[in-house]
Amino acid sequence: MRYTKSGITTTKNTPKDAEIISHKLMIRSGMVKKLASGLYTWMPLGLKVLKKIENIIREEMNRADALEILMPAVQPSELWKESGRWDKYGPELLRITDRHEREFCFGPTHEEIITDIARKDINSYKQLPIIYYQIQTKFRDEIRPRFGVMRAREFLMKDAYSFHENEECLNKTYKIMFEAYKNCFNKIGFEYKVVNADNGQIGGSESHEFHVIADNGEDELIFSDSSDYAINAELFTRPPKEGDACPDGSGKVKIKRGIEVGHIFKLGKNYSEAMNASISNKENKNIKMTMGCYGIGVSRIAAAAIEQSNDEKGIIWPKSIAPYLITIISIGYTKNDIVKNYTDSLYEELENNNIEVLLDDRDISPGNMFSDSELIGIPYSVIIGKQFIENNNFEFKDRKFDKTSTINENNNTEKPTKEALKSILKLING
Ligand code: ATP
Ligand code: MG
Repeated sequence: MRYTKSGITTTKNTPKDAEIISHKLMIRSGMVKKLASGLYTWMPLGLKVLKKIENIIREEMNRADALEILMPAVQPSELWKESGRWDKYGPELLRITDRHEREFCFGPTHEEIITDIARKDINSYKQLPIIYYQIQTKFRDEIRPRFGVMRAREFLMKDAYSFHENEECLNKTYKIMFEAYKNCFNKIGFEYKVVNADNGQIGGSESHEFHVIADNGEDELIFSDSSDYAINAELFTRPPKEGDACPDGSGKVKIKRGIEVGHIFKLGKNYSEAMNASISNKENKNIKMTMGCYGIGVSRIAAAAIEQSNDEKGIIWPKSIAPYLITIISIGYTKNDIVKNYTDSLYEELENNNIEVLLDDRDISPGNMFSDSELIGIPYSVIIGKQFIENNNFEFKDRKFDKTSTINENNNTEKPTKEALKSILKLING
């Protein structure tokens, strides 16, 4: 992608409502634009990141044999009345009336819809277990939308739902999904913690939250310094202090803040009983299905990644979800043919090698090029300019480790030699 065609618009201004660094940097880099409270447009740069996150999740869901579907965002009230949540859910539920005075809501989650699908489609234990998932827009009329896309009103979620003959089968799938979640967050490169959690609105027996460790996280996480014990502080009976004896008797309590990016639940039969979702089991007996549900905040992950990895210059993307892997900062591109020709060939070669490259072909000061590439957080950069014309070499920079290497072109200025290209690819791929 050429910068002049990329639609990237960075800005030095941060809005007053941007309290935390990820919100500021998402606005400054032009990833998202605010439309109204809790409503954001994903601009080309931001959408690239969002798609990468989606794809990592999609890959892991498919690997877990979950089936992708896409349910409507708007849901009829009848199903919510059946489950009993129409009255329970409260003002976070955006209720809509259509032209025929029929009541609907904009889905904050999809248990009712999927249970309705399952009760119509599944009638025998032979069809189970089955896991459905979707990556879809949710709406929650949050009392205090804040931190940009982190706590938005409209946001992208991956929600999955599993159906089972019995608790034992649910436990197996729950474990598989637990591992799939860990794979997602490992692939992204997060420092995260899994904690025991509160079941909240949805109800059920067991539940785990996945938290990205970050000082600005809204949740407080309590964990042991010497065992697997980890719990959301919400569930703690008294305000915990660092160094307290751990409730499981294992050692001392440690406290960190976290951003919840994933949440998995064992729902049991809450929905299948309320909505009569039954099957015939092996003994030909009519029983209610046992359910699990599994959510990931896709758009929240983008903000959490920035919250965990940034510096005074801007974002530092992990390679896994970076919008571009490398940028060519071409100083004098519009004025110097040697620079332009070499840059164009390098750009082409990198693209041929399936490297996502952003070529800064703008006629602006080198300082502005550098500061934009650091703000946007592209993991690697090469600088083609004066040093290239004078000495036939150029710098390769690593954003995260602030490390510079020199690539030598040995009197060649036509196009990248095999050796130079190999050095770049080696530095990128580690
Ligand atoms: P929270 O405690 O943060 O409100 P939740 O328990 O309401 O989250 P779930 O209902 O489990 O969240 O939704 C699944 C995932 O969707 C969450 O783990 C989170 O990552 C994401 N999510 C929830 N609410 C929002 C929001 N308002 N904006 C962006 N992402 C959200
Ligand atoms: Mg919530």
